[in-house]
Amino acid sequence: MRESNRETRKELLELVSALKAHVVSSEEPKGLRNITYRANDTQRGSEMMIEVQAEGETGAAYPRARRLEDIRLELGDCRRCDLHRTRKNLVFGEGSPEAELVFVGEAPGENEDIQGKPFVGRAGHLLTRIIEAMGLTRSNVYICNILKCRPPGNRNPRPEEIHICEPFLIQQLQAIRPKVVCAMGTFAAKTLLQTEMPISKLRGRFHAYQGIDLMPTYHPAYLLRNPGGKKLVWSDMQMIMELLGKK
Ligand code: SF4
Repeated sequence: MRESNRETRKELLELVSALKAHVVSSEEPKGLRNITYRANDTQRGSEMMIEVQAEGETGAAYPRARRLEDIRLELGDCRRCDLHRTRKNLVFGEGSPEAELVFVGEAPGENEDIQGKPFVGRAGHLLTRIIEAMGLTRSNVYICNILKCRPPGNRNPRPEEIHICEPFLIQQLQAIRPKVVCAMGTFAAKTLLQTEMPISKLRGRFHAYQGIDLMPTYHPAYLLRNPGGKKLVWSDMQMIMELLGKK
């Protein structure tokens, strides 16, 4: 495929993804349940075939759980970036589709990759304890990552991987429509807020992300290495609880 067609296809994929995110999250107008994207690599001269299909269903009959299922179906056995080559399992996310609070990390680690579930290692256990200290459970919040597949050796995600995978996170958030997103760790906070400010400067106050209040805080893995940070994280969690009316 020529480079210009590659770019065109990428732009169209982003456009369709944004259109879908808008349609499935909008209260009005209703009437579309799903949009699927299909690109045929076969070239006709310089043309490339792009097909968009829409299925009808009223917005009221399209609950959040179904929207999440559809996003998972759209991801399928995703091979959109190179991380599919080394992953054991794609880690989509888990929790309540009706959650008022969504925790977003950077990417699955080794345990998450093996189990196909987010935050199940030592850092995950600490996150569970934080959630329970807030008077919540893992089953009434939602937990996911920016990337759905583990970067080899837990290296930092690459810009192109984020660029390809983040639209699915945005769709998840638009399906759930939580009151608060908690971005855990430097990488998640900087990526979601598109800033180079360090987490120490970002945490402690709400920021706007996709129309949702976002609280950056330290990653539980950081807290395992630096227990002194727990007080600050608890202060951030209290601000979240206050916003959710849980204090
Ligand atoms: S990281 Fe995201 S885009 Fe890359 S293969 Fe996994 S699900 Fe697909």
